Amino acid sequence: MSLSDLTQGAIARMVESTDTSNGVQNPVCQILSIKKISSTSTANPNVGDRYRIILSDGVHFAQAMLASQKRQMAENGEIDRNSVVRVLQYSSNNVQNRRILILLDLEVIGGPTPERLGAPKALEDQARPAGAGAPVKQENGATAPATSYGGAGAGASAGSTKPAMGGRPGGSSMNAGLPIYPIEGLSPYQNKWTIKARVTSKSDIRHWSNQRGEGKLFSVKLLDESGEIKATGFNDAVDRFYGLLQENKVYLISKAKVSIAKKQFSNLSNEYEIMFENSTEIEECTDASDVPEVKYEFVPIDQLENVEPNQTCDVIGVLESYGEVSEIVSKASQRPVSKRELTLVDQSGRSVRLTMWGKSAENFPQNQGVDDKPVIAVKGVKVGDFGGRSLSMFGSSTMMVNPDIPESHGLRGWYDNDGATANFKPYSNVGMAGAGGAGAGGNLAERRSIAQVRDENLGMSEKPDYFNIRATIVYIKQDNLWYTACPSDSCNKKVNQENDGLWRCEKCDKSFEEPQYRYLLSTNVADMSGQMWLSGFNDDAEQIIGKTASELYQIREENESEYTAVLHRAANRMYMFNCRAKQDTFNDTTRVRYTISRAAPVDFAKAGHELAEAIKAYL
Ligand SMILES: [Zn+2]
Repeated sequence: MSLSDLTQGAIARMVESTDTSNGVQNPVCQILSIKKISSTSTANPNVGDRYRIILSDGVHFAQAMLASQKRQMAENGEIDRNSVVRVLQYSSNNVQNRRILILLDLEVIGGPTPERLGAPKALEDQARPAGAGAPVKQENGATAPATSYGGAGAGASAGSTKPAMGGRPGGSSMNAGLPIYPIEGLSPYQNKWTIKARVTSKSDIRHWSNQRGEGKLFSVKLLDESGEIKATGFNDAVDRFYGLLQENKVYLISKAKVSIAKKQFSNLSNEYEIMFENSTEIEECTDASDVPEVKYEFVPIDQLENVEPNQTCDVIGVLESYGEVSEIVSKASQRPVSKRELTLVDQSGRSVRLTMWGKSAENFPQNQGVDDKPVIAVKGVKVGDFGGRSLSMFGSSTMMVNPDIPESHGLRGWYDNDGATANFKPYSNVGMAGAGGAGAGGNLAERRSIAQVRDENLGMSEKPDYFNIRATIVYIKQDNLWYTACPSDSCNKKVNQENDGLWRCEKCDKSFEEPQYRYLLSTNVADMSGQMWLSGFNDDAEQIIGKTASELYQIREENESEYTAVLHRAANRMYMFNCRAKQDTFNDTTRVRYTISRAAPVDFAKAGHELAEAIKAYL
């Protein structure tokens, strides 16, 4: 739905006419607001609740009432704020010397759209000549008048904005005449606005260089009562605003560009984001009482194991210690990045490691009080399952040292009395050794596509790499699918048949009449990015094939075609494979072998939700 879908100019004609036959036929309008007016009539219970509507054609808006026979449309949510409707039947009535449109019949044709279309002005505010017609002809052009795009004087269009928040701050010289918008009300269709917002996080300055040139950028997250939005400044805007904008302070911001959010680079749900331009004006605002503070939802450190890996959360704790800054080469980006690990503790008696990255890791010791066991509050940090549970900062995470909040004072009192001498139980995870390179906040095995496993050269270094792939079994190699193993408990060594017909295990120094068959699976799997070979051992292969190796051996002895059929049936199934990539040298040839450490059938409900979240990032 866009402004051009509305019957622009219809409202003026509808109000002037007395009914549908004299006015405009089936105009398309947007509902700007809908409000229930509870019935006060006890005498006539049939009157029921009524609904007052503000109806817009993109140029004007006017008061309307929903006819009582249509009120279920409002009650069941069929029409709502920003719905676009076709008015099939209406009348224009004089109520207390005001013209009110009564909507007798209408149908919903779109929406609710995320925002109001155009910049409609109150019809009553127009200086209308007494007679009907003149303003109608003037504004009933096929194309929208330029003034409907927000170019109209801001004073006149003030009625089209949502109620200003907090009003105009006293003493401000800038942005005169621009209404203060709630962040939620910003859209690319309005360019005359000011927001009054708190900076909740600020990125480092990032530099880029590609074929089209090079440059720098930074971004901030802004918060007001209505919501959050990301704002980004490039090049000159970095020079002008990076020093000015400080975390946790409140600013008036105007004359910036609003565009569609690139959600894959943001964790905010806002449809839009802001870009600072040459004309952008920013001024710090000392009157900040009406702008909310950052809200934390702290998870106690011992409760982190109930948070799923890759989720974000807020944590507060006393900084027990912090490590030296180190530089690692990110496997994914192939770029060096600085990191530093902090250890946080709280009253729960547990400690957790938190990784900081980039400039904030390098500059961390410059924060005031970091060597005096400060309280650290972090918002929006990623939970990893490396080392049981660990934390990692994102570009959008925020950290406050000794914040002035009750939780911080509580921790201070506890630590200085008891905590300083207590022992803390760190998170740790059996079997994490060798997970290599992940670090605090990382995951034991990140999910990747098959192409990523290759592109990132997983398994090509000394240490093994771990990864998860969601892939379909395409083919199971039929030769050497099993080996003859020692049947002793937990031996599994290969046994050979001796001249006496018995199977001998060198390790156990015993001979057996029958060997145990164990799988050595070699399977080709595929996803949308490519295909690869995986090796699997007995337990996973049993699950994938659905028979023990001994059973399958028997089947092959009896019926070769049934054997082939069993392996065919095992293909075309999708699994979540936990894998390990490691170099393997055989006959002087080194290659990477990918081994299944666990295979689980895909949980389609969970996988579908994950995919839905990923798709949302592009919408
Ligand atoms: Zn043995």
